[in-house]
Amino acid sequence: MSRKRVKLKINPIRAGLTAVCVVLIAFGVFSVSVNREGGGGDAGRNGAAYASLEYYDAKLRQRYEAYGAANPNMPPSEVVWRVDAGLDAPFYSNVREITDFTPPVLVNKHNRLPDGYEPEGLMYTSSGQMMTAETKTAYEALRDAAGEAGFHINAVAAYRSVEYQKGYYNKAVMERGKEAADRRVPRAGFSEHHLGVAIDLAVVGGGADEFAGTREAEWVAENAPSFGFITRYTAENADVTGYDAAPEHLTYVGAEVAGRMSAEGIGSLEEYWVRYVAYGINTSD
Ligand SMILES: [Zn+2]
Repeated sequence: MSRKRVKLKINPIRAGLTAVCVVLIAFGVFSVSVNREGGGGDAGRNGAAYASLEYYDAKLRQRYEAYGAANPNMPPSEVVWRVDAGLDAPFYSNVREITDFTPPVLVNKHNRLPDGYEPEGLMYTSSGQMMTAETKTAYEALRDAAGEAGFHINAVAAYRSVEYQKGYYNKAVMERGKEAADRRVPRAGFSEHHLGVAIDLAVVGGGADEFAGTREAEWVAENAPSFGFITRYTAENADVTGYDAAPEHLTYVGAEVAGRMSAEGIGSLEEYWVRYVAYGINTSD
């Protein structure tokens, strides 16, 4: 897969100036917090920290301040990427329809696929699952490497049509109630399975729901990024994604993205998307 969208160009002068700014801002924050004990200076203090971030959007300033005030222990950088990702609004509100399908595509409770969307070039695996060609190649490499290490896994779900997803969600609501269903199953149009890049794994002979806690799941969590997959829903990012941890659900994002997320400790596709796809200053087409 060739991606030309992310180009890292580090200008040493600019990097130096940025470092100086960061130090000055850090010193400023320190001085203000010392001088104004309990003085309600949070908005102004964090305002400078917000504005120093490369993915800061001046139009969202009031939302950063409101979200920061509601989450006083959250670092300013996290406040900004979360608001950029729309996470200050309740799930399934302020929904954006996706128009750019250059990978990685962010599909979540604020970003839906257009009505009638169908991924191109779906292929069948030997176990009868459909996924995009790149996902299939990466999945087969992952599955075979796991097998060589003594862990026998396969994909028991991959592409799902929007009609299938609708039925699947409605069934979950009937069985679990709406609130619990929403923590496990995306609504129609909001599923990565519809995009053809998500797979649900199981130990051979078992079900996807039984994957969590197995030695196979542990191996997958550790090794999936080197095959271009991320564990999309973790316990740590549950409040970002709105889903409970699902170690069986992997999303193909390509080795470059998965590797950068691992290296930089980026815990969700939402954060990656803000920093490197939607707002990154080093991103160009
Ligand atoms: Zn899944």
